[in-house]
Amino acid sequence: MTDTYCGYIAIVGRPNVGKSTLLNHLIAQKISITSRKPQTTRQNVTGVKTEGPVQMIFVDTPGMHRKQTKAINRYMNRMATSATADVDVIIFVVDRTQWTSDDDNVVEKLQQAKAPILLVINKVDAIEDKEQLIPHVVMLQQKLQVAEIIPISALRSHNLDRLEQEIVRRLPQGIHLFPEDQITDKSSRFLAAELIREKITRQLGAELPYQIAVEIDQFIDEGTLVTIAATILVERDGQKRILIGEGGSRLKTIGSAARVDMETLFDAKVMLKLWVKVKAGWSDDERALRSLGYQDPS
Ligand code: GDP
Ligand code: MG
Repeated sequence: MTDTYCGYIAIVGRPNVGKSTLLNHLIAQKISITSRKPQTTRQNVTGVKTEGPVQMIFVDTPGMHRKQTKAINRYMNRMATSATADVDVIIFVVDRTQWTSDDDNVVEKLQQAKAPILLVINKVDAIEDKEQLIPHVVMLQQKLQVAEIIPISALRSHNLDRLEQEIVRRLPQGIHLFPEDQITDKSSRFLAAELIREKITRQLGAELPYQIAVEIDQFIDEGTLVTIAATILVERDGQKRILIGEGGSRLKTIGSAARVDMETLFDAKVMLKLWVKVKAGWSDDERALRSLGYQDPS
């Protein structure tokens, strides 16, 4: 008989409610990129947290979308739905009292879920009148059968210990699937590409739509020095100009911000070279998506 516990926890919710922020603060490391704009997370990211006898394996999902016009959106929906099928606990994240039809869409998908659902009301630090929450909670309880309702602030790590307790008591007994010091199953290449994408979306805000992808062309790990070469794919010439900026200034800012985060993550000095290439139509092309590593989970 094993006296250890191990289980999978899915983090679901519409875009921009704070799922990636929650994962990062639960793991206390930056493994999932975040931004003010929706659609930052395109792939499920696994974060692993081991505390004594308990191992929690988190999957962060892309937000579920209603509009499925482009191949990339359809792909994101498939990933989000498959993530809830085989887990031990589901964390359903909502943003304060801001309920939208995308939240209803998530509720609809969760109706078939077998795992217990912890409904997390996030960003409570940004609610002025906390009284507003009471009628909202009543409304939520009518929509979906949930095991617990937990108000948190992911950003300020507020009430995350309570959330963790509620997760831990629902995990099955089992041997640990990851070594104690491992925090993610993602490759360093993947994390490097995600960090670059995060810096681009942060720097450019509304200027560039979500039509960028990052390919890692070279990743050489020599222990104290990691050399990375990456290509940023955009859809149009105009986007390439914006991304590069006056005399290359913008690309330089993006590169140095990404490099700083990479040095923390890899605990090494990082040499980063960035290129920008126009590849029209990549985000609506199933084959191009596969070649960029957006694989189906099955
Ligand atoms: P995701 O799309 O659900 O993964 O959302 P992100 O984690 O990328 O977060 C979206 C935005 O919400 C970012 O600007 C976060 O900084 C912000 N955010 C996340 N959690 C909190 C929180 O607890 N309080 C506040 N005020 N903002 C938050
Ligand atoms: Mg996210």
